Amino acid sequence: IANIPSPEGATPAMAQWFALKAQEPDALLFFRMGDFYELFFADAEAASMALDISLTARGKHRDEPIPMCGVPVAAAPAYLARLIRRGFRVAVAEQTEAPRKPGESTQKGPLSRAIVRLVTPGTLTEDELLEAGRQNLLLALARPAKRGKTAALIGAAWIDISTGAFETAVVTATELPELLARLEPAEILADSNVAPPEYAARVAPNVSVPPIDSAKQQMARAFSVAQISVLGDFGDEEIIACAMALDYVRRSQAGNMPRLSRPLRIGEAGTLGLDPATRASLDLLQARDGSSTHTLLDAVDRTVTAAGQRLLAQWIAAPITNSGLIAERQEAWQWLLTIPGLNGSLATALRRTPDLARALGRLSTGRGQPRDLAAIRDALAAADIFVSLIQPACDDQTPALIRKLCAGLYGRADAVFERLQSALAEELPPKIEDGGVIAKGFDAELDRYRSLRDDSRKTLAALQSQYAERYGINNLKIRHHAQLGYIIETSTTHAAKLRDRPELSFRQGTANLARFSTDELAEIDRAILNAGERASVLERQIFNGLVAQAVAHPALPELAELFALTDVLHSAAILAQGGDWCRPQVTDDQAFHLEACRHPVVEAALDRGARFIPNDCALPPAHRVMLLTGPNMAGKSTFLRQTALAVILAQAGLPVPARKAQIGVVDRLFSRVGAADDLARGRSTFMVEMTETAAILRQAGPRSLVVVDEIGRGTATLDGLAIAWATLEALHSQLGARTIFATHFHELGSLSDSMPRLTPYTMAVKEWHGEVVFQHEVRKGAARKSWGVHVAQLAGVPEPVVKRASRLLAALERDQSRAAPSLPLFDANMHEEPAHDPLRDALETLDPDALSPREALQKLYDLKKLA
Ligand code: ADP
Repeated sequence: IANIPSPEGATPAMAQWFALKAQEPDALLFFRMGDFYELFFADAEAASMALDISLTARGKHRDEPIPMCGVPVAAAPAYLARLIRRGFRVAVAEQTEAPRKPGESTQKGPLSRAIVRLVTPGTLTEDELLEAGRQNLLLALARPAKRGKTAALIGAAWIDISTGAFETAVVTATELPELLARLEPAEILADSNVAPPEYAARVAPNVSVPPIDSAKQQMARAFSVAQISVLGDFGDEEIIACAMALDYVRRSQAGNMPRLSRPLRIGEAGTLGLDPATRASLDLLQARDGSSTHTLLDAVDRTVTAAGQRLLAQWIAAPITNSGLIAERQEAWQWLLTIPGLNGSLATALRRTPDLARALGRLSTGRGQPRDLAAIRDALAAADIFVSLIQPACDDQTPALIRKLCAGLYGRADAVFERLQSALAEELPPKIEDGGVIAKGFDAELDRYRSLRDDSRKTLAALQSQYAERYGINNLKIRHHAQLGYIIETSTTHAAKLRDRPELSFRQGTANLARFSTDELAEIDRAILNAGERASVLERQIFNGLVAQAVAHPALPELAELFALTDVLHSAAILAQGGDWCRPQVTDDQAFHLEACRHPVVEAALDRGARFIPNDCALPPAHRVMLLTGPNMAGKSTFLRQTALAVILAQAGLPVPARKAQIGVVDRLFSRVGAADDLARGRSTFMVEMTETAAILRQAGPRSLVVVDEIGRGTATLDGLAIAWATLEALHSQLGARTIFATHFHELGSLSDSMPRLTPYTMAVKEWHGEVVFQHEVRKGAARKSWGVHVAQLAGVPEPVVKRASRLLAALERDQSRAAPSLPLFDANMHEEPAHDPLRDALETLDPDALSPREALQKLYDLKKLA
């Protein structure tokens, strides 16, 4: 343990700290002392820096002061959140013994303490620590060695303990980055050689990989089955990954296993292939700037609940390839468009549904609070409302998914609902310890203790006036005193009257006050204490009973999923309602036709008054390759991205921002748009570009869609052109993928003759009063000319440089046309500036109109000399 001294010679309290610290050496230890969590030694130094709180010292260890800092228990969630975000793990040690009453012996040493929780990025359950609309995943990866050799397959198991979701997959090492990019796990459990280096910061330290036999036992125990084959057909590597995840969850919750659904094998075969570079270029859930605003999710999200947003994010992160399942989703939201409650009563009902999955998650880890039980009650009430809104509109034609919704929501868990309805008080306190959670009339015994407690309080009030009268002291008070219990308190001036009374015994006096106790008061004190204590013990018992009943109910997790589904379908219907978004026709052929398609994110970000120009995109089998030229800023990347996004939305089963869309299911989507700066990994832009090009050429097939921008830009012109050309040829003739290939190499335009399925397109640009106007329109044909020089002028490059560039360009173009007819015959000097030519310079400065005949003749002689 870094910077932590040896425990030898520690005081009893510090010895306890050392023992707990040794259990979780990689975590900061929050050591509970009264109303504070305190941190010591290196933990204190790290936390005080990270939290910007003051570092002090408490006592000494081996003659050195012990560095210390502390956070109040009440404010702990906020501090925990900051520490977790900064990459720390925190072990929380609580007192597991009630604080001793004053006067009780302190001989017993420090109160016993135990670690009750390990807080890590992947094992959070508290709303304060979680992002509402995002899954929070813990991912375990297992690559067991077989007969000394590392296995080809990697087992993956991921858990969202805040909702109980548990899924698995088997992937190869090449497929792993894709899975990681899709899941974006908060924390990874893996041997150091399994997770790619860029995920190193998320890998939890000291995770052990169990052998297969004990992994099987663990799994069987966790789901209370005799044979794990009951759970499904899992490979060894998957079972080991599951066991790693389960073990870590148990450790993080200090043995308190949360409710988890049975592991579900996710067939990677059924999802649209999106490699990390594609995801990075499309800003699906997170924008390249790290924000969540300029993203596809944000542009299509009309959900009103956090659970709905989480599900929508999952749909977008993992579009599917089964056209039947896609149609099922489409039919469901399209049907919702026809019912009257859309955007009205249905939205209102949705808005009132609580986050059932996360409430269940907290209840099952023993961290549930009264509001979590209320969430279950309200969710069950909402289920009935949904059914009452949807059911009446149902008939034989109703889509399957909607019928599944109704069946799943109807009359589930009525018994739980009724019990919660009558058990919970109208006004709920935030914590169970605050009392008053269980409604009056629910439990007779509880009511009795409560009235005993309350009646005794009334009795006290009556006693005070009786005593005052009996002893003739007006300002006599009955007070509660921490050590003495209920006592009579009076000013010293009156105390003399009470001293001789046999029924009173003098307990304490100060300069101004005297305190007396009586048997009667002592009796009431005990009664109140007893009744109050019993009431709270019983209330806690009833609460735990309700929690156990709710957690054990099998219908609730399913209900949570159905609510989320309803919200997502509703959100899709709202989007489609305006008429600007259509239901795409998703087919099993290679069709591809988007009519008047838009980029939802760019469109939303346009300034007021600016209009987004929709574009068509047709890639039918006979013309499946589109070669797109046009200057920068003309809208090429927007067009490429919007086409890719349309596919993602369509295959997520969602509406598409187009007038009409027909898409033959895409199996893998490759998008390479925008600068791929990968300097962090120390590779040059060109190397990155080529690695990504290689990935496309190795993986794309006839059912894929490839949208690429500026392949070959990262190197010298001729190299780049040659690579772009060869790549385009391979895509066109060998791979057969539907392709949009954007390039600034105008030369490629002439390739359409030799590539029958290639059609050249260009971004429409107009020249107006010497300025370039981008029309953002995709038109058939090759770019008429290069606009780069105009753009340079637009950007404010000084006049002489622009003029010179124009001249150089003209020269280059002349050279090139001489090199025609076939492209490979470039002049070797083509990309070099032509040598300075005095003859041409002289000609350019010549103004024939200003010359007299004699002067003209002289000029001719001069020019002849220059030649
Ligand atoms: P390129 O990739 O050709 O350099 P971009 O696609 O980045 O160009 O587009 C440049 C800018 O032009 C965008 O930020 C956007 O504001 C605008 N733009 C692009 N396409 C359209 C369109 N179809 N309608 C309206 N504005 C557009």
